[in-house]
Amino acid sequence: MSNASSKIRFKQRVRDWATKLDVRIAWLGVRPMQNKWASCSTEGHLNFNVELMEMDEKVWDYVIVHELLHFFVPNHGKLWKSLMRAHLGEYEAYEGALKKRAQTLTPPPP
Ligand SMILES: [Zn+2]
Repeated sequence: MSNASSKIRFKQRVRDWATKLDVRIAWLGVRPMQNKWASCSTEGHLNFNVELMEMDEKVWDYVIVHELLHFFVPNHGKLWKSLMRAHLGEYEAYEGALKKRAQTLTPPPP
């Protein structure tokens, strides 16, 4: 699978989730990032780390839903956790996979 086609599939997945969660995306980017997997702004700007393209689609869902929920919930509190659970089930496993992967990158994302 080439990086270009996984980028297309990744972006489509972001748009599918955005429709499902009723989030309006103004900008969607995939690019190299030094110290995080993704970022979002209140103006609807979303950027994802290109390193994600090499990871499992289950991990994509985790990062995508994680960011999209921040349009409604700015923190990782009780509400955010219950929404993550509702959409992804046992999402903590993917959190672990990302942390593991982060350790292999230089410099490592948090
Ligand atoms: Zn977050």
